[in-house]
Amino acid sequence: MTGRLIVVSNRIPMGDVPSGGLVVAIHEALSERGGLWIGAHPEVVDEAGEEFIDLPSDSYEKKAFRVSEEDHRTHYLGYANSVLWPLCHHRADLLAMEPSYAPGYVRLNQRVARMIAQIATPEDRIWVQDYHFLPLAAALRAEGVTCRIGLFLHIPFPHGSDLDALSERDDFLSWIAAFDLVGLQTQADVARCLETFRASGKGQIMLDGRIRIGKRKLDVLSFPIGIDAERFAELATKADGRSLLNLSPREDIIIGVDRLDYSKGLPNRFRGFGLFLDKSEEGDRRVSLLQIAPPTREDVTAYAEIRDELEAISGKINGAHTELDWTPIRYIHRPVPRETLAALYRVARIGLVTSLADGMNLVAKEYVAAQDPEDPGVLILSRTAGAAEQMGEALMINPYDPGDIARAIATALAMPMEERKRRHAALRKGVMTENVSAWCESCLSWLERPRRPSQREEESDREQETT
Ligand code: UDP
Repeated sequence: MTGRLIVVSNRIPMGDVPSGGLVVAIHEALSERGGLWIGAHPEVVDEAGEEFIDLPSDSYEKKAFRVSEEDHRTHYLGYANSVLWPLCHHRADLLAMEPSYAPGYVRLNQRVARMIAQIATPEDRIWVQDYHFLPLAAALRAEGVTCRIGLFLHIPFPHGSDLDALSERDDFLSWIAAFDLVGLQTQADVARCLETFRASGKGQIMLDGRIRIGKRKLDVLSFPIGIDAERFAELATKADGRSLLNLSPREDIIIGVDRLDYSKGLPNRFRGFGLFLDKSEEGDRRVSLLQIAPPTREDVTAYAEIRDELEAISGKINGAHTELDWTPIRYIHRPVPRETLAALYRVARIGLVTSLADGMNLVAKEYVAAQDPEDPGVLILSRTAGAAEQMGEALMINPYDPGDIARAIATALAMPMEERKRRHAALRKGVMTENVSAWCESCLSWLERPRRPSQREEESDREQETT
């Protein structure tokens, strides 16, 4: 391939060797191919300016753009996390629209587009990550950039009815339409995207599944993201989770790991566990819920509210069931390092995922990778999480129904070893093969494929449009 791969993501690792699945996969792809990684500088400043800051890196270039206080307020906390995040997670009721948010969001994207336009060539490929940069392709086109541009949206594509709640509904579709490829997590997301374009009259769905918008054609495909499964499985054997938790021999653990976010269905998870406790009979074994829920986006009001709600529910359940030597809900409101998490997943009899809406949910995949194949725990998975499309051997639940969660906990605890092994083996196979490197390669093989003659025509049309 001639030209470079240019990745644009909000977060960019500052150090040389990044940690965490997605950043490692991007780091590896760029190390192999060379190229450029562009992201937001984490330090917020008064005046952002239009100069990149070069970050140290060995085998590829890394450049950061500055973010001002106003950008942080309107772009990051505002439009991205108080408008697009609730909208895409089916919580239009939580939209917090302020007049400055949408202009601030677009302004940051236009500034970054001007900066990229200075350095991009027609042979480059630009791969944009996530909802922080939806207007970027349109802004790059306006700056005369003609190279191929793909988006990967890590969160769900919004439901058409939710999109109606967005004042910039038409802009949203034009932003998406300016990309050449829109990568989404699931087939269900693809179906929603196609249907939204069809219903809006802004695009025509072609027989090959692409969307025709004027003279151009837009590919909308699903690329379910994975984890670095081999590494995670290995990490899980490094420490003994039982001693980390100081578990008594008669105690079993259910684990939940989530940023403290309203999309994760945490109140119903606690309620479901409470119902399970109400119905379980005094026996030899005790079952505790270990909930790790580090704080996130605390400057956004909806996040402070969910924290209060959870503390109230867990207090009530613990008040009703705690004994001298046992507390049923262990609630940790702090981030836990990956090595510790991996060991805790391995010791847990159940991994409990109750998201009401979730792009993928990597925790479900990490839980499976961390299990001992000879004595695996059971994954209970929300049928509305993106992961449900690939992980059919999990025990599926309706996250809106605490009774369903309680029943699944009882079923998982009683599940015979043979069935646990059978379900786990099938899930593990998927998690190991559909891993994060495979995800990265499949997105990039689309972005980097040679141009077909018809695409050359489209691209030359675009060049004419922008000159
Ligand atoms: N995570 C972590 N420490 C914590 C809580 C979460 O490292 O204390 C990680 C977790 O292992 C997973 C990621 O954060 O890799 C959460 O990803 P997921 O897709 O489940 O949810 P998201 O936060 O992206 O909505």
